[in-house]
Amino acid sequence: MNEHERQTRSHLMGLFKRHGFNPRTIFGQNFLIDINLVEYIAEQGRLTRNDVVLEIGTGTGGLTAYLADYAGEVVTVEIDGNMHALAKDAVGYRDNVTLLNTDALKNKNHFSPELIDLIQEKLAEDPERTLKLVANLPYNIATPVISNLVATELPWSRMVVTIQLELGQRMAAKPGHSTYGALSVWLQAQCRVRMLKQVRPTVFWPRPKVMSAIMQLTPDVDRRQKIVDRPFFHDFVRRLFQHRRKLMRSVIVSMYRKQLSKATVDESLAAESIDLGVRAEQLKVGQLVAISNRLHAANKTAALLQDDVGES
Ligand code: SAH
Repeated sequence: MNEHERQTRSHLMGLFKRHGFNPRTIFGQNFLIDINLVEYIAEQGRLTRNDVVLEIGTGTGGLTAYLADYAGEVVTVEIDGNMHALAKDAVGYRDNVTLLNTDALKNKNHFSPELIDLIQEKLAEDPERTLKLVANLPYNIATPVISNLVATELPWSRMVVTIQLELGQRMAAKPGHSTYGALSVWLQAQCRVRMLKQVRPTVFWPRPKVMSAIMQLTPDVDRRQKIVDRPFFHDFVRRLFQHRRKLMRSVIVSMYRKQLSKATVDESLAAESIDLGVRAEQLKVGQLVAISNRLHAANKTAALLQDDVGES
């Protein structure tokens, strides 16, 4: 049988029955059984032989086979040993596929070092190569996977990912919307975020309880360069949006109370013509980047002054 025709509901059910496996909810196992959609995801990756594709959640390897047809290299990672074994049978013979059997994440903020090493090794084989994430992601780790990739210095050029619809909406949300938050700002400050398609539960086996979406992210170098200190900015938006409905000024004052005076905070906001009565959820991404840069500079100045006092 052609491996590309394999991933249907009856095929998967038969395969699992023969091996005595059941899909595992704790691992977010919802396999794509709509071949058109599998093809669509692979196509949207716009893959070339210069691409190293990262797939997180190999499953039985249904999407992996399509990725391998077009990409230079596919690095695919699967936590469940049972799935890893099935995928090995299906695509293990391909010389541009590397299957890893591990948790893609070391913790919430970091990928598995083994995975990063492998990606870097594949990228290093040719300076022309860039990285693309193309995956039907396990929904429970979709947020850390996407945010961590954006936070790394890896040369990624595109992401095409299937995730929960609600998460896709948060990623793409605009100011003033109820779902606009730290994730929207963190991503949109560095990437273009687009929802390509909404996807019904029926395209998966077993069916998830929620609607899904296929999202596309591409880096926006100009926007990203405006962020003076990315870890500072990441921390700033995370903490700021914990109090999204409070007046932003007082949230910032309390966030940096050990480092900055109220007057300094007000000066930073005034320098960006920010109204003191505004809430974080009303501000555009560019405004939040600008404020973060001001506060970062003010923090640095404050730290230098402290050092001077300490030395004298
Ligand atoms: N790509 C396949 C499978 C998607 S289901 C398809 O489209 O059919 C998501 C897969 O991710 C499951 O096989 C699950 O076991 C795996 N997974 C879940 N958590 C993971 C983790 N932390 N690291 C790597 N793989 C994980």
